[in-house]
Amino acid sequence: MRLELERSEKLKIVSQIAASVAHEVRNPLTVVKGFIQLLSDSVDLKQRNYLKIALSELDRAEYIITDYLNLAKPQVEQLEVIEVSDFLNHTFEMMNSYSLIQNVEMRVNCDRSDLYVLADKPRLTQVILNMIKNGVEAIPETGEVSVNAYARNDEVYIEVVDTGSGMSKEDLDNIGKAFFTTKDTGTGLGILVTVRIIEAMNGKIAFESELGKGTKVTIRLPASPTFE
Ligand code: ADP
Ligand code: MG
Repeated sequence: MRLELERSEKLKIVSQIAASVAHEVRNPLTVVKGFIQLLSDSVDLKQRNYLKIALSELDRAEYIITDYLNLAKPQVEQLEVIEVSDFLNHTFEMMNSYSLIQNVEMRVNCDRSDLYVLADKPRLTQVILNMIKNGVEAIPETGEVSVNAYARNDEVYIEVVDTGSGMSKEDLDNIGKAFFTTKDTGTGLGILVTVRIIEAMNGKIAFESELGKGTKVTIRLPASPTFE
């Protein structure tokens, strides 16, 4: 118990430092991105390709920074009523070209347009993007990531299912611990941040996985009554 407390105190301090560094680094990154975009209009094709790579690496840096920033930020800021199928179709559009490049087919399955949750939209977006990204990253060559939504007993279920490599029992026990990653360029913060966000919105999250078959992440959020 004492050990746990010390761990979480330490994590708190580390995450506050990380977040302030991340915040400071984000501004110059944004400036650099802006100038690269401006330059792209006045260079030849070969140089434009170099700039494209530079931009995509800057995007990657931003992803990493976002994970660190969210570690220390207050969890949930503005709650609003969100219509789930619309919301998921929008995240699909954000991720579809990324997943196609990785040879992953993405699908959203939600046959109702009357499912509502009370949630912080940017945070919930981040949660779903994180889970889709993990799913895509777990697929070695080609496969599928589907996002399913349905209601059961006053709760809205959102599942992110992938046909990727799956996790061993040991890895499954370790996910959500700070800095646990099996990836060369992973932060090991995505699931930790995700779990915190979902819990702050009074939801639950569970992971099921089988090596060689894939992973299913199930998020449950209290259904919100509609105001129509
Ligand atoms: P990161 O993606 O930066 O490694 P995460 O917290 O998002 O950090 O994930 C931690 C680890 O959990 C990953 O490195 C991977 O080993 C495992 N993992 C997470 N999601 C999946 C998944 N869908 N399929 C297989 N392994 C996963
Ligand atoms: Mg991740």
